[in-house]
Amino acid sequence: MKTICVDAGHAGLVSDPGAVGVNGLAECRVNLAVARLLRTLLTGAGCAVLMTRDRDEDPASDDLAVRAAMANTGRADIFVSLHCNAAANRAAAGSEVFHHPASREGARLAGCIAGALASCRPSRGVKTAGFYLLRATVMPAVLVEMGFLSNPEEAGWLSLASSQHLLAGQIFAGIADYFNWPPPQGTASFIACRRRRYVLLSMQVYFKLIIRYRCEEFRPGNYRRPGERARSGNRFSCRGGGYGRPGTV
Ligand SMILES: [Zn+2]
Repeated sequence: MKTICVDAGHAGLVSDPGAVGVNGLAECRVNLAVARLLRTLLTGAGCAVLMTRDRDEDPASDDLAVRAAMANTGRADIFVSLHCNAAANRAAAGSEVFHHPASREGARLAGCIAGALASCRPSRGVKTAGFYLLRATVMPAVLVEMGFLSNPEEAGWLSLASSQHLLAGQIFAGIADYFNWPPPQGTASFIACRRRRYVLLSMQVYFKLIIRYRCEEFRPGNYRRPGERARSGNRFSCRGGGYGRPGTV
């Protein structure tokens, strides 16, 4: 069983809100919302999850040394810090994932998460930085900038619950990719047409597939509402890392 430390960046509206969006959206709120959703996905996959902050206002968590110590003493396998970006240039947009320049495993984790996130927003790729939390944690660590609150369109997107679900799902897919977790067995039957494109061979509840395989994009004509049964032979594509590899289920 893996232990994942999920770090919701910043401490809360009063003590440390982080960046504040052009729409008034506080970074600390988005970070915590996605962190909670990510925790749900990780615990569902059998992980132990350490949350450095689980409240809207948690001044004690403002001490980054406390956060690093939680990950280190909890023997977390990886450390994932969630943030939103801001820039003077309002056009700046997209996600980026940082790792410490000296950490090869951090670089690999960052690549997995950046690859998954690239499917839902523009990706600014993988970057290196000497941020305190990347230095002070002893396990592979990444800091995910999920989008720009200084960009009006992206700030609106980040405020949506659906976007936060999507972000959590893609970050989860990146973590699953990093650990090379096999997809759940016996739940579906697919063949791979090509990378991340599948043909559904047996009757399945579509909604379960969306959740389980993090599918975000469906081929036109094959779309089904959540909960509706898909038909044998339906085609769909699993964008953004998909949980598992084509041809293995
Ligand atoms: Zn931040």
